Amino acid sequence: MNVRDYVLKVASRCNLNCSYCYMYHHADQSYRTQPLLMSEQVVHAVARRVEEHRRGDSDAMVRLTLHGGEPLLFGKERLIELVRTFDQVLGEYQLGLQTNGVLLDESWIELLNRLNIFVGISIDGPEVYHDRYRVDHQGRGSHSRVEQAIRLLQSSAAGQRIFGSTLTVVDLSCPPETLYAYLRGLDLLNFDILLPDHNLQYPPEQQEDAPYGKYLARLFECWLSENNPGVQIGFFEDAIGLMLRKSIPNSFWGLHALPIAVIETDGSLEPPDYFKSCAPEITKQGLNVLHDPIQSLLETSLMQQILEPEPSLCSTCRGCQWKEVCGGGLLSHRFHEQNQFDNPSVYCADIEYFLACTAVALDTHLAAS
Ligand code: SF4
Ligand code: SF4
Repeated sequence: MNVRDYVLKVASRCNLNCSYCYMYHHADQSYRTQPLLMSEQVVHAVARRVEEHRRGDSDAMVRLTLHGGEPLLFGKERLIELVRTFDQVLGEYQLGLQTNGVLLDESWIELLNRLNIFVGISIDGPEVYHDRYRVDHQGRGSHSRVEQAIRLLQSSAAGQRIFGSTLTVVDLSCPPETLYAYLRGLDLLNFDILLPDHNLQYPPEQQEDAPYGKYLARLFECWLSENNPGVQIGFFEDAIGLMLRKSIPNSFWGLHALPIAVIETDGSLEPPDYFKSCAPEITKQGLNVLHDPIQSLLETSLMQQILEPEPSLCSTCRGCQWKEVCGGGLLSHRFHEQNQFDNPSVYCADIEYFLACTAVALDTHLAAS
């Protein structure tokens, strides 16, 4: 299986200092040794390695997402140069960018549209919740600037063309009804959610059973109640798709993971960066696009576990009724230093609760239709 999705860490630092960030506030602190920005030499090496890797791949469209830290810190001139290089070497490809939105203004939107770069924005709900975590280095909330960036994207044809979706990390203190009403109040039709980066080594604090499962079920209910087919929430749609036995690759859910390669600012070639929440240096494989092909990443043990999800499930997951839909949860959520990934997800009870609710809702809907 080939890699078709790449995350390029074009900037290793961020203008925000979110308290839950896996780059800066979890076990792995390797960002400290990374160059601030990806060099021209590394950008060229990325393009050459991606092109080399996709040769012979029959469905060879590759997707590259610019990430950080904050990718807009890379700067406009460097970005123009990067696109020029990718155009020359790769020809056809899709380019996206996941930003915290703080620096996004009209001139950025105009440039991103011209370069055909699609934009995702991270926002964690209304100001009081978002600003509890997503603060800058002076401790000031970023909400007003992020909301302004979303409105700016929505207010022009160029912005609307490149605006993909928003991404929200679930915060139990923000009621799901409040979150849903807020995101819809922003006229968003495409938004996604993420569970916080916890695992068995660093579990979430919780005062009740399955709090995230109950949260997800209530959010799902908001989505169902609105009954607007235009509103897309990937997290829910993927779970439903798998329940209906569709193949959903590259999702939080299921047993059909596609490999994603991360390339750091110094050219280090690594598995997905969410593993950084597990243990220091866990993503370090001693590989670099300056001297290693992308294929070498697929041979590492972490990537093998992603490529072959079923054999890497623990015995509990193998016997679970939700195995095909849940897939054991995200690999990083299963981590404990004693037995690595040989566990159910730290969110197992939450996932079971949510999937049971979803299955009932789906049965009701199918019976009525
Ligand atoms: S914006 Fe993203 S990269 Fe920056 S501190 Fe927040 S979570 Fe981390
Ligand atoms: S993590 Fe829990 S719900 Fe998911 S497959 Fe494993 S046992 Fe089942």
